[in-house]
Amino acid sequence: MTDDRVTETVELIKELVQIPSPTGNTYEVIQFVQSYLDELGIQNKRNRKGGLLATIPGEDTSQHRMLTAHVDTLGAIVKEIKPSGRLRMDLIGGFRYNAIEGEYCQIETSSGETFTGTILMHQTSVHVYKEAGTAERNQKNMEIRLDERVHSADDVRKLGIEVGDFISFDPRVEETESGYIKSRHLDDKASVALLLQLMKRVKEEGLTLPYTTHFLISNNEEIGYGGNASISPETVEYLAVDMGAMGDGQSTDEYSASICVKDASGPYHYLLRKHLVRLAETHGIDYKLDIYPYYGSDASAAIRSGHDIVHGLVGPGIDSSHAYERTHRDSLDHTGTLLYHYVQSKLVI
Ligand SMILES: [Zn+2]
Repeated sequence: MTDDRVTETVELIKELVQIPSPTGNTYEVIQFVQSYLDELGIQNKRNRKGGLLATIPGEDTSQHRMLTAHVDTLGAIVKEIKPSGRLRMDLIGGFRYNAIEGEYCQIETSSGETFTGTILMHQTSVHVYKEAGTAERNQKNMEIRLDERVHSADDVRKLGIEVGDFISFDPRVEETESGYIKSRHLDDKASVALLLQLMKRVKEEGLTLPYTTHFLISNNEEIGYGGNASISPETVEYLAVDMGAMGDGQSTDEYSASICVKDASGPYHYLLRKHLVRLAETHGIDYKLDIYPYYGSDASAAIRSGHDIVHGLVGPGIDSSHAYERTHRDSLDHTGTLLYHYVQSKLVI
């Protein structure tokens, strides 16, 4: 991609991560995506689950291709209002309490009002609690300190806060001079930005895609069933665009596109994987093949729910996934370029 396109992608990521969208409360972010697509004149519609399906008709309308990225993120929900006026949480998605310790958060009441707070260990103060460092970070010990004068559960209820209110974490998005993007929720808003930019590029360049291509912005991935519906019967290939997982023994990095060979759901379609590698090599795209040990995607969820499709998974490399994440412009660049060539390529079967 040109440097300008990468910059545009980064700007879009910044906008997306700042719209709270824990799984179960994605209305506002979907609205944002819908406006973006409407402006481009790309046909789109919401499904009943609240996700968004955009479609660009192609030369061949009898065989379809689908790409997906999820816009829902990790989050929490108010489980209990403690007598002290602090809030107990229930987590949404797969992560540990230590990943959000000390983080700022926002609570949205059912009437749409928002309040801020901080996620803390109950025994945080080292001047008071001997076990501040060793006490377990769990549901019992972690709580939200509201930035309001509340001393009882009643005080909290008077604000309109109730059990079931959604809690979102401050993304703390930042771009460094050296090209890194640090933020929560790069999983998977970095990929949503890449798909939106891809659609924009297709429009701007007046490309006719070889097949009708759907772009599903799913909204239930973090709980396992985001993109397993709204798949047209004509769909042959289904590519999930989601983060590549980094860590010990992983080949994924922040500077290339990560092509997933296998995750906890099993291997991805061999022909599609080889096709993606061939495209990367032909177009000088840096890529890494990798296996993600504890991972499932919208593509594997679609297979599980019974769809007979060729499924694949590709995405930017994200460090410290499901915590305070980071990627680099280079990874966005290579992943975006791979997607650009992919949507113009022939189906593998
Ligand atoms: Zn994800």
